[in-house]
Amino acid sequence: MSESEKDFTTENYLEGIRNKKLLGSKCKNCGEQYVPVRKLCTKCNSANMEWVEMSGKGEIAAFTCITVGTPFFVEKGYDRNKPYCFSVIKLEEGPMISAQLIGVDESKPETISVGMPVKVTFIETDVKGDTRVDLGFEPA
Ligand SMILES: [Zn+2]
Repeated sequence: MSESEKDFTTENYLEGIRNKKLLGSKCKNCGEQYVPVRKLCTKCNSANMEWVEMSGKGEIAAFTCITVGTPFFVEKGYDRNKPYCFSVIKLEEGPMISAQLIGVDESKPETISVGMPVKVTFIETDVKGDTRVDLGFEPA
């Protein structure tokens, strides 16, 4: 199945992430773009969508550094001495998306700022022999 024929489902969006592609859906009617994908445009109600690959460029809209993590992050070695940062990124195409922020000094949140340019990256984690790929962003 070619990319353009795939349904606009979270599963297909996540498959894109596993293939290290940040995909979205774009309304052919009004041009609004959605990440993760949507089947229906919330702006004009059109179902006339197409898959698009995002540039992966954006800026930090919000972020937080977390010292008490979820089990997944605790297993990756993050704790109160090694916090991790989660961010909301505003993509240059418009959509906002949340993801881990890497390549920053997590212990010095004052060095991270809203508006900082970032680019997409894909974080690979070995989980019981399988490679898990997660969306992330790093300073551009
Ligand atoms: Zn639309």
